[in-house]
Amino acid sequence: MVKSTKVMNEHLQQRYRALGLKLTPQRLAILSYLEGNTRHPSADEVYRAVLGVFPTMSFATVYNILEALREKGFIAELSVDPVKKRFDADPAPHHHLVCLSCGKIEDVHQEIALPALRKHAGGFTVLRSQIAFYGHCPSCRAA
Ligand code: ZN
Ligand code: MN
Repeated sequence: MVKSTKVMNEHLQQRYRALGLKLTPQRLAILSYLEGNTRHPSADEVYRAVLGVFPTMSFATVYNILEALREKGFIAELSVDPVKKRFDADPAPHHHLVCLSCGKIEDVHQEIALPALRKHAGGFTVLRSQIAFYGHCPSCRAA
């Protein structure tokens, strides 16, 4: 569920306003839901989470807000889930472990591939990478 807007990081709000964006209650609710969220939610999950606070908000509105947040660098878009696009509340570069059984996506913060790739890139300037490791998480493996 969506946290109260009062507990939302004041710094995040300031950063948002500094970009000249209007912090509407809807945008604030989505930002609050995403702040510190490590679940990599799909647009639909974000939509269902904020419905409790804004029952009349449409999926299209939620989706447009997510796209705007992505454009401004507040969140990142993940294409690692074969079923649906997911959003990452942490826009800093990192990799992911994707469970093919339950769909859980976990962060891997170690620089794994870039140092090795740079050796073989032959002058190609690598600006970003998105690496996913697919398999089964410990709880799915145990089941
Ligand atoms: Zn799993
Ligand atoms: Mn992530």
